[in-house]
Amino acid sequence: MRVIEPLYAEILRRNQGEGEFHQAVREVLETLDPVLRQRPEFVDARIIERLCEPERQLIFRVPWADDSGDVHVNRGFRVEFSSVLGPYKGGLRFHPSVNLGIVKFLGFEQIFKNALTGMPIGGGKGGSDFDPKRRSDAEIMRFCQSFMTELHRHLGEYTDVPAGDIGVGGREIGYLFGQYRRITNRHESGVLTGKGVNWGGSQARTEATGYGCVLFTAEMLRSRGESLDGQRVAVSGSGNVAIYAIEKAQQLGATVVTCSDSDGYIVDEKGVDLALLKEIKEVGRGRISEYAERRGENVKFVEGAGVWNVPCDVALPCATQNELHEEDARTLVRGGVKAVAEGANMPTTPEAVRVFQEAGVAFAPGKAANAGGVATSALEMQQNASRDSWTFAHTEERLAEIMRHIHDSCYTTAERYGSPGNYVVGANIAGFELVADAMLAQGLI
Ligand code: GLU
Repeated sequence: MRVIEPLYAEILRRNQGEGEFHQAVREVLETLDPVLRQRPEFVDARIIERLCEPERQLIFRVPWADDSGDVHVNRGFRVEFSSVLGPYKGGLRFHPSVNLGIVKFLGFEQIFKNALTGMPIGGGKGGSDFDPKRRSDAEIMRFCQSFMTELHRHLGEYTDVPAGDIGVGGREIGYLFGQYRRITNRHESGVLTGKGVNWGGSQARTEATGYGCVLFTAEMLRSRGESLDGQRVAVSGSGNVAIYAIEKAQQLGATVVTCSDSDGYIVDEKGVDLALLKEIKEVGRGRISEYAERRGENVKFVEGAGVWNVPCDVALPCATQNELHEEDARTLVRGGVKAVAEGANMPTTPEAVRVFQEAGVAFAPGKAANAGGVATSALEMQQNASRDSWTFAHTEERLAEIMRHIHDSCYTTAERYGSPGNYVVGANIAGFELVADAMLAQGLI
C-alpha cells in the first residue's frame, strides 16, 4: 500500500459518504503494489487517479404515478465509468438502497470484470432507489418508461448499453426497450441486453451469471484436484443469479441444501426442488417461506439472516453486497468449507475474505466469478451486431470457454505476481493491466 495510501486518502476526501465505493476501491488498490512497482509508467500517467474518477456521472429525476394516481419522485443514476475497452456496459439496479456510492462501487467493479471477460466492453452501472416490491405490472411499466425518457439520450449501441441487476429482469428490460424504441424511432437491438429471445435477446443470458459462477467454482476445484460432484452447496439469495447457480450446481452433481431471501432462509437436506423454487420466485414473485410451506415437513424455514450457519463444502453468496461477515466466514471454515465464489457483487466483507484466505479456502471474487452474466451480454451484442441468433448449446459453450479463460488468467496472474492461489490478486491485476495498457495507448483522456 506504499504508493497507494495517499491516493486512497484523496479518494476518501473527494467522495465523502460513499462507503461501498471506498470499500471497492480499497480492495483493488491493496493488491496493485506489485504491478505498480513493475510498471512505473502507470504511476506517471496517473492511471489510478483517472480510473477512480468516472468519465461521466448522471443523476436525474424520475417522476411517475401509481395505480391510485398518487405521484412519486425517485432518483435515477447512470455512472459511465470507463469506455477505454468498449461502450459503457453494466446493469441497472432498482432497489430502495440505491444511492450514488452503491452505483459507483458497482460501476468500478464492472470496469475490471468486463476487462477480464476479454470482450470489448467498458464499465458502467445505473439504477434507481425505486422499490419494485408489491408494485403492479402497470406501475413497473410507467416507472420504466419515465426512467428511460430521461436516460435514452445518454445511451446507444456504441455509447452505453445497460442490462439488468437486482430488481431489473426481463420484464423491466422489455418496458425500457419499448420506450427507447418509441422515443428514438430506432429498433436498435444493441442498446440493451437481457432482452427476450424472440426480440433480439440471447439464449443463455438469463442463466449466464449463475451458470458462470458455478463453472468458475468447478475450475477452482479442478485446479485442486477436486470436482463439484457430490459436494454440499449453500447458496444465498433466490433471484436470477441464485436460481441458475443452483441449476448448474445440480447438473454437475452437487446437492444444494439452502437458499434465502430478505425474510430468511430454507434448509432442504434432500436438495432444493428447483421447479418449485422457480414457480414461487419466477412466476409468482413470492417469498421463500412459501417454499417451506409447499415442500412439506422435512424443510425448515428460518426467519431472519443466518444462511451461513448451514455447514457446506461450497458456499455461493448470490444475494447482495456485504451479506457474508467475518463471523459467518469463521462458521463456514469450522464447517469445512473448501471453496467460496461470489455470485453477487461484493457480498463478502474484507474481513471475511481474509478469514477464507488465511484458512486456505479457494475464494473467487465477484469480478471474476460472476462475470458470466456480462460476458453473455457481450455475446448478445455480438449477435445483435451481426443480426444473428445462436443456439443455447453454442452460447453456453462460449460462456464456458470464457469462464475457463477468466479462471486461467486470474490463476496465472496471481502466480506471476507472487500470490499463488489468490484469485483476488489475480483478478484485480489481470483486469487492471488490460485497462491500464489501453489507457496508456489512448493518451491522456
Ligand atoms: N448486472 C450484471 C453484473 O453485475 C450484468 C451486467 C450486464 O450484463 O451488462 O455484471
